[in-house]
Amino acid sequence: MRIAVAGTGYVGLVTGVCLASKGHEVTCVDVDESKVEIMRQGISPIYEPGLSELMKDNMERLIFTTDYASAYRGAEVIFIGVGTPEKKDGSANLSYVYKVVEQIAETVEQECVVVVKSTVPIGTNDKIETYMIEHLKNDIPVHIASSPEFLAQGTAVRDTLHAARIVIGVESDYAKKALEKVYADFEAPKVITNRRSAEMIKYASNDFLALKISYVNEIANLCEVVGADIEDVTRGMGFDSRIGDKFLNSGIGYGGSCFPKDTKALSWLASFNDNEIKTIKAAIEVNENQKFKLIKKARKYYEDFSGLTVAVLGLTFKPGTDDLREAPSLVNIPIMLEDGAKVKAWDPVGVENFKKHYQHEIEYCDTIEETLENADICFIFTEWSEVKALDVLKYKALMRHPIVLDGRNCYKLDQMDGIGITYDSIGRETIIR
Ligand code: NAD
Repeated sequence: MRIAVAGTGYVGLVTGVCLASKGHEVTCVDVDESKVEIMRQGISPIYEPGLSELMKDNMERLIFTTDYASAYRGAEVIFIGVGTPEKKDGSANLSYVYKVVEQIAETVEQECVVVVKSTVPIGTNDKIETYMIEHLKNDIPVHIASSPEFLAQGTAVRDTLHAARIVIGVESDYAKKALEKVYADFEAPKVITNRRSAEMIKYASNDFLALKISYVNEIANLCEVVGADIEDVTRGMGFDSRIGDKFLNSGIGYGGSCFPKDTKALSWLASFNDNEIKTIKAAIEVNENQKFKLIKKARKYYEDFSGLTVAVLGLTFKPGTDDLREAPSLVNIPIMLEDGAKVKAWDPVGVENFKKHYQHEIEYCDTIEETLENADICFIFTEWSEVKALDVLKYKALMRHPIVLDGRNCYKLDQMDGIGITYDSIGRETIIR
């Protein structure tokens, strides 16, 4: 099929490339000329495992352009995958989505289906339909469908090619048939429903995951106080199939481009409809506090960081991505710097993005070892495999004061016991050297 995809971020680009890998002719549109230029050379502008390879293998079915008119004019299906960031009041900013809708209304010349993949508040697809009817330049039927995205950054290609489910929210048989054809070679179970339910499935799923993380983090915080061990507790919980063993890792909270904004957007939507979603409000509050958990712990060891060398391992919000959005590093590093610390940081893929967006006085290191050298305290913000695989004796060997605050429980306690370091993690006993 001839498909256009608006937006080539984590969702749009992965969607476009995966659809091309299934034999569709895909034109990816973005407003960012420099990004488009890079993609034309077969290079992915984002770090996502497996994406570059899949992109290279399917370049003959992929076009990258800023010329939206040429892309939308002859497309049978147009996916919208642009951002829906958070507004100051917590609601979703739909201006990028509506800009694309406007461009589609202006250019389409044949019956087609517009599929909203961006995460949008319940009822948005209906509003887009009304807008489309009022603004279409050519008198042709345009069907609006919702097919929200569930991929996770770091595993986006796998999540798309082997999705747990594909949600199709439609109000017309034409749209249903078109989307069944688009997804014909994807083996995932298809959940076909109306548009509002599809929109709600996305928020309900994401917010449930955020809730699960905040719940485990609160249990972890209590474990520290009452002398229980969160790793054992969650292992014990995970055998219960009603609970499941996924998403039970405690840490310094969730970040990224989705959970923070999607929890706030649902909470906003509920209050806008004179409703209250108390569980999600609580999840947001817990997460806000959890982000500062390590820095609060650090005060046990140093009253402030003035004159200290602080090692930071991990800048991105999770491993496997170069995305920094809502990463705990962003709110914690400025506190260290304000305190007068010298900050040394390491991240395998996030440094360039960090430098681009934040002009902090930081020493960026190429290796973990270099970062730890002469440090007075170490903060682990991201559980990169390189951090997990580190010979833990290096903390003692390289740091001036081997105090390790682990926000992601990268190591087993017995690994850290008796090696001459202070090791303070989440929801577990603190090992004092
Ligand atoms: P992103 O910010 O990484 O990418 C958005 C892209 O859209 C950018 O490249 C931008 O230049 C482009 N763009 C803006 N206006 C445009 C226009 N008029 N025409 C063409 N391109 C335009 O966003 P993302 O992380 O991919 O998220 C996109 C949507 O998908 C959001 O609604 C998000 O909530 C949702 N989502 C994201 C993820 C994720 O893990 N990132 C997962 C599921 C759902």
